[in-house]
Amino acid sequence: MIQKNSRGKERKKMECSNVSRRGFLKAGFGLGAVATTSGLALNLTKGEAHAAGPVPKKWDETYDVVVIGSGFAGLSAAIEAKNAGSTVIVLEKMPVHGGNSIINGGDFCAAGTKMQKEAGINDSADLMLKDMLKAGLYLNNPELAKIVADQSRDALDWSQNYLGAHYIKLNFHGGGHSVKRAHQTANASGSELVNKMFAKVKVLGVNVQTRTKLARFIVNNEKRVVGVEVSKGIGSLMKKPGNHFT
Ligand SMILES: Cc1cc2nc3c(=O)[nH]c(=O)nc-3n(C[C@H](O)[C@H](O)[C@H](O)COP(=O)(O)OP(=O)(O)OC[C@H]3O[C@@H](n4cnc5c(N)ncnc54)[C@H](O)[C@@H]3O)c2cc1C
Repeated sequence: MIQKNSRGKERKKMECSNVSRRGFLKAGFGLGAVATTSGLALNLTKGEAHAAGPVPKKWDETYDVVVIGSGFAGLSAAIEAKNAGSTVIVLEKMPVHGGNSIINGGDFCAAGTKMQKEAGINDSADLMLKDMLKAGLYLNNPELAKIVADQSRDALDWSQNYLGAHYIKLNFHGGGHSVKRAHQTANASGSELVNKMFAKVKVLGVNVQTRTKLARFIVNNEKRVVGVEVSKGIGSLMKKPGNHFT
């Protein structure tokens, strides 16, 4: 079941199968690194696909959805996938979950929210998109930026009503937002959200494996991701040169 690499070291391979990417990501904060067999086609050339390595004949573990990373994106993707009926695993390379998200400043930008209305702030998804494109010097992907703006209020509602996150005030955010739309978490930290997401993930029974690093995506002949290869062990910053952890 466990495959050996060219140095004879063992590497675990995980397969994922048949779940629509759109189905489980639509209500999340953003897109995590999620591998599924349907819907996630990589834009690889033939040469790149070959360089990605062969598809193993046998897999060690099989899930509907394999989520890479345990920050906002990964945990929200895992929650949505699990609630859509999938079997899910979250893989995190660090010894602890949370990524940058757990240390962030806790300012959640969203437009047209209840808190804004109560504070007499006029805002809309269209204005948020305009601000984002201007601040991004129009280098943003406009379609993705529009998704962020259009779904920002629903994402904030989800964090309050489903996760139980608390926000105490509205701030101007340094990212070019023209009105007060940064909803500050009760502890002025992203940990308010991550901790509540992590608690939800545990209640839902999703396994989060730390010290497990995505080594490569496994891509089939149709250039679709069909699984991942991981290295288990401590984080790369702690490795001595030449050491290889499996
Ligand atoms: C100090 C700070 C303050 C910020 N404040 C704000 C703010 O107030 N408001 C705001 O909107 N934004 C803020 N941001 C930005 C915001 O926090 C990030 O955009 C957000 O956290 C990104 O979430 P994510 O889930 O995409 O990534 P992350 O939270 O970084 O999660 C990615 C995870 O993937 C893991 N990972 C990476 N590679 C691998 C691999 N190969 N295998 C397995 N796991 C892997 C990482 O270890 C990490 O845990 C701030 C950022 C920082 C650093």
